[in-house]
Amino acid sequence: MARLLSGIRVRDEIFAESRPRVERLRERKRPPGLAVILVGDDPASKIYVRNKVKACEKLGIHSERYTPPATAATEEIVELVQRLNEREEIDGILVQMPLPKQIDSHKVLLAVDPAKDVDGFHPLNMGYLLTGRPGPRACTPAGVMELLHRYQIPILGRRAVVVGRSDIVGKPMAMLLMHEHATVTICHSRTRDLPAVAREADILVAAIGRPAFVTADFIKEGAVVIDVGINRITDRARAEALFGHDPDKMAAFEKKGSVLVGDVHPRDVAGKAGAYTPVPGGVGPLTIAMLMVNTINAAERRLGV
Ligand code: NDP
Repeated sequence: MARLLSGIRVRDEIFAESRPRVERLRERKRPPGLAVILVGDDPASKIYVRNKVKACEKLGIHSERYTPPATAATEEIVELVQRLNEREEIDGILVQMPLPKQIDSHKVLLAVDPAKDVDGFHPLNMGYLLTGRPGPRACTPAGVMELLHRYQIPILGRRAVVVGRSDIVGKPMAMLLMHEHATVTICHSRTRDLPAVAREADILVAAIGRPAFVTADFIKEGAVVIDVGINRITDRARAEALFGHDPDKMAAFEKKGSVLVGDVHPRDVAGKAGAYTPVPGGVGPLTIAMLMVNTINAAERRLGV
């Protein structure tokens, strides 16, 4: 039977370890502060931001939310970031991605003070990651590493395959695994015979953005499969094809009119992997937990606590 790797369990552990750190900062100086910028009203982004703010409330981290309209210009967002860079009591600045098309995301990310870059997206921090120096790491891949460590999954010398090469997930994920001595292959939309490459993996990470794309023929018997994808299914036939075997999921679909699925086929992974992360309840909660950790780290560094 495949082992379920619970992101919720690991998140709760990380939160429990974070509370005393927040408390210590409060007692000695002030609580950590996080500013979140949400441009426009993309429904998925709104949910992510709401969850991030909620996590701050749970831990006693001060949070501020800025919601410029979808029509905002690059300069407006850059100015907002610069104002937040100047604020002493703000330790972390997060710009929720994706930004509307007219905004130059590169310029915006470059404007964030690298010391307050709690997403680890600033090119300077990406460079620190590449060269293995300390610095904030992108939250999702950092969360995956925490999960692997806390479930004591061996990494050294293992074959890891990361499907997806985005700057926010795939690339940093591959770097983190490589720094811990995995032999890493990065795959993308031009990879030839992807299932055969994926089947070599002891640790397979899917960060693609395509519902249930990774099927049984991608998975080596007993592999550890990490599913980063979050995809919402609203089509009933599709939901039945994916979750016909799972009455609870189908009941949830009937109730809500949609159901979440990762980039990995839920039935196939359960039948073939040695261990895997569920969706929801796998990587998602860890992304938020690591954002909190990065914010606390930034506050401790900035305040010398
Ligand atoms: P991007 O769209 O930026 O990148 C997707 C990657 O997948 C690209 O490198 C792309 O290749 C590759 N890809 C797309 N189609 C295929 C294919 N048919 N075969 C092989 N590779 C393919 O996505 P993100 O990295 O931002 O996100 C990936 C997923 O993770 C999404 O579902 C997103 O919602 C989810 N996510 C979840 C988070 C969480 O907290 N759990 C956080 C962030 C993201 P190419 O480069 O060649 O185009």
